[in-house]
Amino acid sequence: TTTSPLLSVKDLKVAYGGIHAVKGINLEIKQGELVALIGANGAGKTTTLKTLVGMVKPAAGSISFDGQDTSRLAAHDFVSRGLVLVPEGRGIFPRLTVEENLQMGAYYRNDKADIAHDMARVYDLFPRLKERMKQLAGTLSGGEQQMVAIGRALMSRPKLLLLDEPSMGLAPIIVQKIFEIIRMVAAEGVTMLLIEQNAKLALETANRGYVMESGVITVADDAKALLANPAIQSAYLGE
Ligand code: ATP
Repeated sequence: TTTSPLLSVKDLKVAYGGIHAVKGINLEIKQGELVALIGANGAGKTTTLKTLVGMVKPAAGSISFDGQDTSRLAAHDFVSRGLVLVPEGRGIFPRLTVEENLQMGAYYRNDKADIAHDMARVYDLFPRLKERMKQLAGTLSGGEQQMVAIGRALMSRPKLLLLDEPSMGLAPIIVQKIFEIIRMVAAEGVTMLLIEQNAKLALETANRGYVMESGVITVADDAKALLANPAIQSAYLGE
């Protein structure tokens, strides 16, 4: 088909002073896809996500999201356009309650009935958060805080959700739970780009994957093909 991609990144370069963190990458995400971006520490994955949401400015290249050039927009312009980052370390508001954190995700919306509907949907996805809606978010466990971060992002009705290391610092059983939730969110039709240190889990969850090394995308393929690729297995899958 000829449907244009939801996100299209061309020849993107990003530098911090003299450090070239991203050296000319291309990537595309279509509506409904769950795409994994894997690679070693320092490969440039986080920088890529930050650039997509205007937190870091590109040195060169183009970014098109939902048919518009977004490469020069300010960071605060992205949430209302439906491009939302759940950052590494989650970025929740520890002194607000769970419910207040979720409401913050909808701060720019004024469709009250729809907000209430989305809140109910988030509580369906995360029954645990419903039980704790009046609790201060800073007192929750790491896994629960990750749920708040994802739930808050969903409250903005994202067209594309960017997840940076959702499993960071969580016990394996909680990581499984978070990935179960990511699959449920994907099944609801939310398009996602996922950075994940656990490459095996990421590729088992995603439709497609990109492998990033030292600022360059070295391989792009279907997730199944990456899982079966001997070079990927030995470098990233511990096989
Ligand atoms: P990780 O998953 O460990 O965060 P990553 O693949 O996301 O790794 P980045 O965090 O994007 O990698 O870092 C890419 C490169 O840019 C690294 O060499 C890093 O040291 C450098 N870098 C990242 N942030 C900054 C910054 N604010 N100032 C200077 N250099 C930076």
